[in-house]
Amino acid sequence: MQPRDYGLWAEQLVNSAAGDVDAIGTVAGLREFLASLDQPPGRVSAADVTATNRLREELGAVFHAGDGEARVAMVRAAVATLDVRFEVTEHDGTPHLHLARAGAGAATFLRTAAYFGLAALLAEGFADRLGVCAAPGCERVFIDTSRNGMRRFCGPTHAARVNVREHRRRRQAGAT
Ligand SMILES: [Zn+2]
Ligand SMILES: [Zn+2]
Repeated sequence: MQPRDYGLWAEQLVNSAAGDVDAIGTVAGLREFLASLDQPPGRVSAADVTATNRLREELGAVFHAGDGEARVAMVRAAVATLDVRFEVTEHDGTPHLHLARAGAGAATFLRTAAYFGLAALLAEGFADRLGVCAAPGCERVFIDTSRNGMRRFCGPTHAARVNVREHRRRRQAGAT
């Protein structure tokens, strides 16, 4: 993991609410979510589920923020409340950084990791690269780490669908 990779956890957390089923609405769901991040679930309680839901709304607001400046202010305020522990590991042969969970519950750990990652992204100049999908009705969010920074959609499916629609509209406009 690079520090900013933890920012993707924030993205995944917010998007876990976007499907038909709330992926982290139960203790089992939250355990599964942690496993999907390659984290041992450890201790997960009903209180963690409630707190993670709150965290998800908090993080959603960061993605919906009007501009990069507002976003930096939000992340700065949240970061001031964190108790961050990290370690240098070499489990894959190269030294890199991992956040240490120590005794933290699931929600606290996710909050620390998400804001740590967002802070790293902001520090690397990505404050204006967090966004909400432009497809009608889609609430999914994304972090645009592309070179040109022109990303507008949550993924290729929505990009393709909207592009087809826009193309059709242009063609119709041309025909009349
Ligand atoms: Zn690692
Ligand atoms: Zn979308």
